[in-house]
Amino acid sequence: MIELVNVQKRYDARIALDIPQLSIEPGERLAVIGPNGSGKSTLIRLLAGVLAPDAGTVQAGNLPRGEIGYLPQQPYAFDLNVQKNVELALAGEAEKAKIAQAALERVGLLHLSKARANRLSGGETQRMALARVLARPRKLLLLDEPTASADIQAMELIERAILVYADQTGCTLVFSSHAPSQAMRLSTRVLALDSGKIGELGETAQVLQSPQAESTRAFLKSWRI
Ligand code: ADP
Ligand code: MG
Repeated sequence: MIELVNVQKRYDARIALDIPQLSIEPGERLAVIGPNGSGKSTLIRLLAGVLAPDAGTVQAGNLPRGEIGYLPQQPYAFDLNVQKNVELALAGEAEKAKIAQAALERVGLLHLSKARANRLSGGETQRMALARVLARPRKLLLLDEPTASADIQAMELIERAILVYADQTGCTLVFSSHAPSQAMRLSTRVLALDSGKIGELGETAQVLQSPQAESTRAFLKSWRI
């Protein structure tokens, strides 16, 4: 289980995240939604351990680093070809090339295996980084807006790859999205952030179809045009 207790994160004097308590159960799929600046990336980075809280504790079930797959909102491309970028996730494995290619195929990038990674577009870089994360089984998958730079076709492909991976590995999935429709398709529970605080937390259908908090209603309303 993942647990946050009395967690606060500030940038300068401003509080970006303030979460008294949050538990995430093994195997659940939690969507973190909310407008720009509501603290989604901050929460995911705290869970990934790349950011430390100013107060409180973040306990990610004592998972070793290799069991956590983290896709940052702006992923990084090493100056290697695409396949080698994915192989970086496969230190100890035999048949690295084959595994990396299978991961690239799942995100629709097999045709770019030998392309130079730092020449890819934003959306392609994001898919390559996702392939790096999905190349091997993990206990915890943390995806920060995994389809932010994807077109509709790529988005469908990525969502399918994530769902298949979650089913096959039984991993815990925490992802952020600014799109409620994506939360509906991928999650079992939704955490709606409101200026760094928990606006609402509950089962996906309940939060998205009959939100209780005024902040969630306002956020969802802007999507029903
Ligand atoms: P979201 O991912 O929901 O858009 P973030 O977690 O990125 O939100 O940001 C939450 C708030 O913290 C925003 O107001 C943002 O401007 C601020 N913030 C995030 N990262 C930094 C940083 N490195 N330095 C200063 N402010 C930051
Ligand atoms: Mg963000």
